[in-house]
This record gives sequence, C-alpha cells and structure tokens, in this order.
Amino acid sequence: MSEFKNMDTQNLILHPDTDWVKIDENRIQLRQPDGTHITFDKHATDISNALTALRSTEMNDVSVDEDIMKQLKELLDSKGLLVQEDYSSVSQFQRLMDLHGTSAGKIDLESIPTSITFLGDGKLASLTKESLKKSNIKITDNQDSSSLIIAISDQEDHKFLRKANATAVKKNQPILFFRWAQRKFVIGPFVIPKQTACLECAYKRELGSSLFPDELKAYSTGDAKNSPSYEGGLVLDNMASALITRHIMTILDGNYDLAGPSNIVKVDPVYLNIKYSPILRLPRCGVCNNTEDKPKRTIREQFSAKA
Ligand SMILES: [Zn+2]
Repeated sequence: MSEFKNMDTQNLILHPDTDWVKIDENRIQLRQPDGTHITFDKHATDISNALTALRSTEMNDVSVDEDIMKQLKELLDSKGLLVQEDYSSVSQFQRLMDLHGTSAGKIDLESIPTSITFLGDGKLASLTKESLKKSNIKITDNQDSSSLIIAISDQEDHKFLRKANATAVKKNQPILFFRWAQRKFVIGPFVIPKQTACLECAYKRELGSSLFPDELKAYSTGDAKNSPSYEGGLVLDNMASALITRHIMTILDGNYDLAGPSNIVKVDPVYLNIKYSPILRLPRCGVCNNTEDKPKRTIREQFSAKA
C-alpha cells in the first residue's frame, strides 16, 4: 500500500502551507493547503506535538509519542503533505499548484514545453519577459519543439496574432496568446496544434455568435491603429505580470486543466471579473483543420470536462 516504509524520512517536514487548530482537549483539526480538513477526535495533544516537531528537521524539545508520530507520518505522506526540507524555498504559488487536484489534471503529453519563445513587442511583452526571468523560467530565441511561443500584443492586433497562430500551427508548435483588448487582459487560447482549437477557430466562433457580424469582421480585418493600446502603470503592470506568469507556469508544469487549452480567459482589472469562454475546434477551420490527426484521448477528455 504505502511506500512510506521504504522512504527516507530524515529530511521530511510538514508541508509549509499546512496548519492545525486544537479545538479542545481531545479534538484537533488539520487544515490542508487545498482547503480540506481532517479532524482527529482523540490524542489532540500528542498529535499537536508531533505536528510541531515536523515543522522543521532541527532538534526541538517537544516530546513526541513515537506511535502517534509513525501513524501521523503515514497519513501525511499519503496526502502528499510530507515534503523535503528544502521544498519550503520553492515559491508558495508553485507549492499550492503542486497540490492542486490529482494526477488526472496533468496530461501525459510527450512534450510539455520547457522554455518560452517570445513573439511581438510592446509593454506587455517586456513586462512578461521580466516576470518570467524573475521566476527562473527559461527564455530562448530558438523555436524548437520544446519551447512554447507566446504571442503578445498591447492591443487586439488581429493581423499579427492571426499570422502568429497560422505559423505556429503549421510548424506544429504550441502557442499561447496574451493581449490587451476591450479594456481587459485576454489570455488564450493556449493552442496545441492539431489537438485543440486555434485562435482562428476562436475568431470564427465569435463572428458566428455575434449580433453584428459585419462590424466585427470589419474590426478583425481592419488596421489595429484605432484600437486602444495598453499603457500600464503600477496596478495593471503587476496584474499582467502575475496573470501571464501564473498561466505559463501551469503550462510548463503540465497542469493543462488549469491552463485551459480550450478557453479564452478575459480578466477585467476594474471589477476583477474573470470570464472563461470555451472554444471548440472548428471542423472547417482554414488554419488548424486536419482530418488526419484526431485529438489525443487525454486532450479530448479535457474538452468534455470543460465544455
Ligand atoms: Zn482553428
């Protein structure tokens, strides 16, 4: 059952984002980082002592009941709440993401991107670059199969974004879009060529569902010069950095359910609304349509879960 008995428990500590509360003489509640609780209804003091001792590997003077400690460690291990001591230096966001859901959320794609290639320039592009550098994410100029392209624009520059989309799909490179449009941050779609909907699918869907298709079409083929551009400032810049860095981290981590390959995410910085618009692959999309390559099973399941 548990592999606990075989593992070296010397350098393991309690997950730094776990805490507990002693309710009364008997009961103690352990609060897991994912928000769920476990309540023990006896041995509250012994369990509390054992948890305190597990906070760090340094010697401390808490007296611990060995049997309680053994059982507690097995339980914590089964919940993924025992971690190597140096894990506490990993960013808190990364630690929380690691605990997200189950392994089912991760897909076994043969090539999860390991680096980022930038397309486009402007304010959003440069602050994204800065933020990824601070997060120790590898940026490369060489577009190879292991890099994720991010196409960034300070406005809804259809011409630029569509071209980036078409090129990436043709070269079979995963690509993510990020731009400022209609006074919102717009992230997505995250395109896995031939497996998920592409940007062109999204535009066509938008056109199909619009009450004003002619106007929309004119917008999308017209010059980008007229559309408002991202100017930034403290609040917007910090939000933009956090949003795009978070999104990229979910992709590089293989947490594709969080990265939402079938979604366009719009974040309103004033109201803090986040809108997810699911998009499906268009059978007649002029860019990504390829009937020879059927979507892989894992990705298809993510569609149905999101749709
Ligand atoms: Zn498409």
